[in-house]
Amino acid sequence: MLGLMQDWPLLCHRIIDHAAKVHGEREVVSRSIEGPIHRTNYANIRARSLQVAQRLDRDGIKLGDRVATIAWNTWRHLESWYGIMGVGAICHTVNPRLFPDQITWIINHAQDRIVLLDLTFVPLVEKIADQIPSVERYIVLTDREHMPATTLKNAIAYEDWIAEVDGNFKWKSFDENTAAAMCYTSGTTGDPKGVLYSHRSNVMHALMANTGDSLGANAADTMLPVVPLFHANSWGIAFSAPSMGTKLVFPGAKLDGASVYELLETEKVTHTAGVPTVWLMLLNHMAANKLKLPHLRTVVCGGSAMPRSMIKAFVDMGATPRHAWGMTEMSPIGTLAALKPPFDQLEGDARLDILQTQGYPPFGVEMKITDDADKELPWDGKTFGRLKVRGPSVSAAYYRVDTNILDDEGFFDTGDVATIDAHGYMRITDRSKDVIKSGGEWISSIDLENLAVGHPQVAEAAVIGVYHPKWDERPLLIVQLKAGQTATREDILHYMDGKIAKWWMPDDVVFVDAIPHTATGKILKTALRDQFKTYSLPNAAA
Ligand code: ADP
Repeated sequence: MLGLMQDWPLLCHRIIDHAAKVHGEREVVSRSIEGPIHRTNYANIRARSLQVAQRLDRDGIKLGDRVATIAWNTWRHLESWYGIMGVGAICHTVNPRLFPDQITWIINHAQDRIVLLDLTFVPLVEKIADQIPSVERYIVLTDREHMPATTLKNAIAYEDWIAEVDGNFKWKSFDENTAAAMCYTSGTTGDPKGVLYSHRSNVMHALMANTGDSLGANAADTMLPVVPLFHANSWGIAFSAPSMGTKLVFPGAKLDGASVYELLETEKVTHTAGVPTVWLMLLNHMAANKLKLPHLRTVVCGGSAMPRSMIKAFVDMGATPRHAWGMTEMSPIGTLAALKPPFDQLEGDARLDILQTQGYPPFGVEMKITDDADKELPWDGKTFGRLKVRGPSVSAAYYRVDTNILDDEGFFDTGDVATIDAHGYMRITDRSKDVIKSGGEWISSIDLENLAVGHPQVAEAAVIGVYHPKWDERPLLIVQLKAGQTATREDILHYMDGKIAKWWMPDDVVFVDAIPHTATGKILKTALRDQFKTYSLPNAAA
């Protein structure tokens, strides 16, 4: 027997309809690319999104066509976003920080028909324009006054483009499982992979993100997503904030400590979200200038592990750091480290210990950890295994790739290695390709790195597995010392000794001038593995 409730497809544009009707006057404030602060509200955002949809419709954009954005977080990007999805096209957010070759590859793979881009990226796109033949037209997200001379095909200023229609338009209607948006993972190994979100998965994700223990922002709050719209939907904030009527503050192209601080302060921001590097810049700026942020309540931090010193800095200023883990394939939220009873009563280091975990999943994300033979492992906080996930906002396949990416139970392997404790708190110990397999047991490279950087003379540390005749692999610690420091191999090993199991101790320590990084700021272990491919450990004959 079927239930007798209404069929109300979960469509993204319903979110902006709701925001306009119920929270129409709630502000959307942006640092414009042209410079000045711009203010609008949800009612205007919806009206102009409808113009975008109508204009795309006039350009012949149909259900399922791909329309790309290469843009910072601003009101025009948000309008484009809802307009593209509301006409039934797929909003392809391109990460401009990728190498030009990768951007070319991605646009060709997606076969984007129209590209909407910020002024910042006009020179970049001009250089690759002759290699992306599917693109018929470029819309520069600015007005006529700021429109540059450009060689881009059929280029027009956004404001002129939408002014050609009156906005008297109805959203297209279609099934909730229709594709709404796409985002390519950065592809540090192999080609980038296209994650294709549906209207339903995005709306479900917004509902997950809206709980107090997730992003935690309500109608009376103000959210500043430093995390870009092109980084997994700005962690869902472009959907969740309007759905809650939360005031939005967009930082545009300026993500340095001083600029972010200025907006957090002047707009009395209560909630914000970004990667650790952004918070490091903010905290440094605040410390150097003895600044405070009395209105700030929640700082969501993810993308890579949030260092303990950063967690403590936010706690000390009276804000709640919310360490989050996720990935593009998960829309992206996987877990968030909220303090649930009885842990909310903890104080001092014990409290920081929980805040430093990657947290527990909201309803809508299922997790399990398995060994190499796919056997499920216990949630005891100690055993670590491959982290796998399932849910309505988790990828089932990649765009135009035939390979099956799910296990027999429909779980997706995240590529991360983790422990989960009896209360559901998850802790990432490694990427599966980085974990060191020593005599059939696993050693966490991240744990060793975190320990090594605790040494006062170490600037950065990376641990890789190198060949060992008896144990298959043993850890090699690669260290970049702080400028002018002289710590030796023995000093560092002595410092680590006793703080970890004996068999986890690195077999050797080497010093390098600089540790290499990926385009998204993660340690480039593939390069280190190449560099130390033939490295022979001192005890390798043992
Ligand atoms: P990209 O590689 O483009 O940054 P994602 O943002 O999807 O792609 O990266 C997801 C990966 O980032 C995760 O699988 C995990 O390895 C890492 N990650 C994300 N959040 C955290 C976190 N809080 N702690 C440790 N690692 C994290």
